[in-house]
Amino acid sequence: MIKTPGRISGGQILLGDTDLTKLSEEEMRQVRASQISMVPQGAINSLNPVMRVRDQIIDSMLDHNLGLSKAEMIERANAALEAVELNLKVGRMYPHELSGGMKQRACIAISIAMSPQVIIADEPTSALDVVTQRQVMQTIGRLQERMGSAVILIGHDMGLMAQFVNRMAVMYAGSLAELGSVQDIFTHPLHPYTQMLIESLPVLGNRGVFKGIPGITPLLRDLPPGCVFNTRCPHVMDVCRHKTPVFKEYTPGHWAACHLHEK
Ligand code: SF4
Repeated sequence: MIKTPGRISGGQILLGDTDLTKLSEEEMRQVRASQISMVPQGAINSLNPVMRVRDQIIDSMLDHNLGLSKAEMIERANAALEAVELNLKVGRMYPHELSGGMKQRACIAISIAMSPQVIIADEPTSALDVVTQRQVMQTIGRLQERMGSAVILIGHDMGLMAQFVNRMAVMYAGSLAELGSVQDIFTHPLHPYTQMLIESLPVLGNRGVFKGIPGITPLLRDLPPGCVFNTRCPHVMDVCRHKTPVFKEYTPGHWAACHLHEK
């Protein structure tokens, strides 16, 4: 889905034994929605405004030639609506007739209609109020348990991550800064960026005091030499300005890219 001038410069994307970077566009189209699906950010911009919700759920099934009759596809679409706790009447509605939370659930229904192995949820709750946010995340969690799918949750909300995920990867300017279990990341964060992200979470007993991360993220086409975080890091050393830190495993399953730990 990367548009030019973006490109995949290296590495693999493995789904089971299949390297997705080696697939043709047509093969990849068949993998999308049936094996990997996506819950997009901002449901309002992702749904087709002139199609009824149920037709949008069926649309990807039609595209995949599953050999299902119309009645079977409607049955699957209804099952997907029920799975995300939407009334079946919603299937006959247009997106503008739904609330923000309902639209997001409709997007989840589209993404699970073919029981994919992996669901990529890109900030699925960013436009929702906190109560709806919780309900939507509980729905994703329940579906994940029921279908046995893996969920990759992308987001900036460390509090939400702490509640929902098992393993967490922290990225900065396109590079992995740290990877570990939620327990490891929150109790022993290794990378200064992770430490600062955690410190920036508001604390109930400390009302009105917010701690930000000074500076701005560098442009991806003009990254600083050495460690990409060196322009904002409070622990920056000379070596950080010219040598890229290696992404290393420091304790079992806990990885980081920072010169502070290399010694
Ligand atoms: S490598 Fe250096 S600049 Fe980068 S995070 Fe570690 S201490 Fe900071």
